[in-house]
Amino acid sequence: MSLADSFEGKTVLLTGTARGIGRACATYFAERGATVVGGDMRDQSGTAAACDELAGMFDPLTADVTDSAAVAALVERAADTGRIDVLGNVAGIVERGSISAHDDVSWDRSVAINLTAPFEIARAAVPHLRETAGAIVNMSSIYGQIGASERAGYASTKAGLEGLTRALAAELGPDGIRANAVAPGFIETPMTEPYADDDAARERFRDLAALDRLGDPDEVASVVGFLASDAASFVTGETILVDGGRATVE
Ligand code: NAD
Repeated sequence: MSLADSFEGKTVLLTGTARGIGRACATYFAERGATVVGGDMRDQSGTAAACDELAGMFDPLTADVTDSAAVAALVERAADTGRIDVLGNVAGIVERGSISAHDDVSWDRSVAINLTAPFEIARAAVPHLRETAGAIVNMSSIYGQIGASERAGYASTKAGLEGLTRALAAELGPDGIRANAVAPGFIETPMTEPYADDDAARERFRDLAALDRLGDPDEVASVVGFLASDAASFVTGETILVDGGRATVE
């Protein structure tokens, strides 16, 4: 571990930490000495156990990111550590269905969780991030950049999240706050389990990637960590694909 990726003495606020990519991010930062405050709707004992084995600390809070009071409590809990250095908006959902089957409830849920919540959390965290010249990392998706049938709500909100990322970068840059996004391809997590368990789908997604394999949550966490670190001190408004080369394959 180099000095650039040490988070010793820093506080990292993350959402979606109960499992998958969010849990991998929590572990990544805890491994590097951060205090990690993580909000999720689900039971977080798995993440807590993973982080307990490390030098860092993990402070789990049950929080629905669409609930403004829960968001305020989450940000306050992180600020209570004395500082917020990094905000990682990782929580997200994918709602599948054709355009005609994509009802308003499912559309609104996608917007609320994938787009409105990152905005609200960023808004609440910005005063604290100003004090540390901190960094925001939003979790987009390759489907924010390429077409995705039967995922209109997902693709639209992830594209919107990348727009939000650029807006945050433009507006907060003068305060020394950087805002970037990560756009994963197929990563093996509980979200993608239904496909990963289906041999034909698994092979199809594998074939789509130049690297000819599916991704691991740790391979996303390390890019989140890079963007949050001083190694990326002149990078802002950027979205980095972590897709094994899928978007480059014709
Ligand atoms: P996951 O479903 O395994 O984990 C997502 C976590 O977010 C869960 O713990 C869930 O409880 C939490 N969450 C969902 N709604 C919430 C809410 N309202 N309030 C609080 N927490 C909530 O998914 P994952 O694969 O780890 O995905 C994490 C992020 O990465 C998501 O934003 C997803 O869109 C994105 N992503 C994943 C992939 C992939 O292939 N897995 C690809 C591209 C982007």
